[in-house]
Amino acid sequence: MLGLMQDWPLTVDKIIDHARNWHGDREVVTRSVEGPIVRTTYAAIHERAKRLSNALKAWGIEPGDRVATLAWNSANHMETWYGIMGIGAVCHTLNPRLFPEQLGWIINHAEDRVVFTDLTFLPLLEAVLPHCPTVERVVVLTDAAHLPQTKIPSLQDYESVLAGQSADCAWGGFDENTACGLCYTSGTTGNPKGVLYSHRSNFLHTFMAMTATVMGATPSEVILPVVPMFHANAWGIAFAGPASGTKLVMPGARMDGAALYELIEGEGVTFSAAVPTVWQGLFAHMKANDLRFSTLKRVLIGGSACPESLIRGFQQDFGVEVTHAWGMTETSPIGTIGHLPPEIAGLPYDEQMKWRTKQGVPPLGVELALKDEAGQPVAHDGETFGRLMVRGPIVAAGYFKSDASILDDQGFFDTGDIATVDPQGFMQITDRAKDVIKSGGEWISSIEIENIAVGHPKVELAAVIGAPHAKWDERPVLIIKLKPGETLNKAEHLDHLRGRIAKWWMPDDVVQAEDIPLGATGKIDKKLLRERMKDYRLPESA
Ligand code: ADP
Repeated sequence: MLGLMQDWPLTVDKIIDHARNWHGDREVVTRSVEGPIVRTTYAAIHERAKRLSNALKAWGIEPGDRVATLAWNSANHMETWYGIMGIGAVCHTLNPRLFPEQLGWIINHAEDRVVFTDLTFLPLLEAVLPHCPTVERVVVLTDAAHLPQTKIPSLQDYESVLAGQSADCAWGGFDENTACGLCYTSGTTGNPKGVLYSHRSNFLHTFMAMTATVMGATPSEVILPVVPMFHANAWGIAFAGPASGTKLVMPGARMDGAALYELIEGEGVTFSAAVPTVWQGLFAHMKANDLRFSTLKRVLIGGSACPESLIRGFQQDFGVEVTHAWGMTETSPIGTIGHLPPEIAGLPYDEQMKWRTKQGVPPLGVELALKDEAGQPVAHDGETFGRLMVRGPIVAAGYFKSDASILDDQGFFDTGDIATVDPQGFMQITDRAKDVIKSGGEWISSIEIENIAVGHPKVELAAVIGAPHAKWDERPVLIIKLKPGETLNKAEHLDHLRGRIAKWWMPDDVVQAEDIPLGATGKIDKKLLRERMKDYRLPESA
């Protein structure tokens, strides 16, 4: 027997309709690429997104066509999302931090027809677009006065495009499983892979993101997504904000410490989200100028492991609570959340740290399993490593234009991460499968060593990779980038680790590097690092 409730397709146009109807005056504030801080509201975003939809239709964009954005976090960028998705076209977020060749490859693979972009990226597009025959037009998110001369044909300014259209346009009316967004993973192995979100998956993810344990989005909060809209959908904030009537503050092109601090204080930001490396710049600025937060209460940190020093720094120096989370492009991206249950939150702060550095438990809607190489369940003892597998309505079932199956026979997606789960249910990422160090048949977690190493006051970045070893196969090497003006003392670094990790996990060597390469999503690029270290030999085996 079927239930007798209404069929109300979960399509994301309803999110911005809701924001317009019930939170229409709530602001979205942007540091514009042109310079000034600009203000708009959900009602205005809704109206302009409708105009954009009409422009797309006038250009012959059909449901299912891919329309790309190459843009910073801004109200304009939000308008393009809703304008594209509302008519059933697919919003393809491009990551400007990719190499031009990769970007071109992705645009061609997606067959993007239109690109919306910020002024910042015109030189990049000038280089890429001659190789992208499917792109028919480029719209710059600016007005006519700011539109520069470029070599790009059919370049238009956004304001003129909107001005020429009516705000009357029908949205939705299609199946909730219709494709809605496309985001490629950065392709640290092989070619980039396109994750194709549906309206339904984004809608359900929005409910998850809004909850108290994740973002706690309400009209009383003010959220600053530092995490870019091109990096796994800004972790859902461009949907959760309007869904809950929360004021959003968009950093545009400037994510340096001074710019972020000014926005946080100036706009009364209470919650923010970013990868760990962003916060280091903010801390440095605040410490140098002896600054404090007056409104910021909580930050969500994920994308790579959050070191203990950052969690303590936020809490002890600035009174800000850190929520550690794990996810990936394929999980929309929220996969687990490190919200502390009362049994752990009631412990002395130092004892909580064991759980605060873990990535937490899945929210409702994510099923999580830890499996061994044979696909068998691994003990939840907090020690045994297993492959992290997930399934649920916000998890990818396949990649765009690929027939390859990415699910196991129980429908679980293999995340490529290695993790443990402890008796309290807290998951901890120990490594990406390709980064794990295999020493004497046992596995060493590079992430755990890195997190402790980066807590040393002289260290800016730390990476651990495996170096070939005659007896043990591989042994860990710690690569360090020091803070400006500091000097390296190898023994000092090893002393800092000693007693905090198992003896046999102690790195065989410490190497100082001028630079540790970061990838397109702000994480250490281990593939490139291994490439740079390919001639390195451990002292014993040299
Ligand atoms: P990519 O970095 O490959 O472009 P994603 O942003 O989707 O793509 O990255 C997802 C990966 O980032 C995860 O599979 C995991 O390895 C890593 N990751 C994400 N959050 C965390 C975290 N809190 N701790 C450790 N690793 C994390």
